[in-house]
Amino acid sequence: MNTRHSTHDPQKCRLMFERLSEYIDNELDERICNDIERHIRDCVPCQVCLGTLKRTIELCKHMKNVPVPPRFSANLRELIENLP
Ligand SMILES: [Zn+2]
Repeated sequence: MNTRHSTHDPQKCRLMFERLSEYIDNELDERICNDIERHIRDCVPCQVCLGTLKRTIELCKHMKNVPVPPRFSANLRELIENLP
């Protein structure tokens, strides 16, 4: 295992979140999914956000193919930008 410094990198988090909705829909390459999963494993804020996001997506899927409201991703981005 590679023991890199787990410095929090909000910029990378932001990048992740731009892809997360696609990731949840399984629309991304396996390679990108692995990248996201690896980041999330080391990043608590992203874990929390992903948990929320997944729950929301599940809700949306439950109500037929309702797309994720744009405001939701805006909220996520705001959350990321306000990370310490
Ligand atoms: Zn992160």
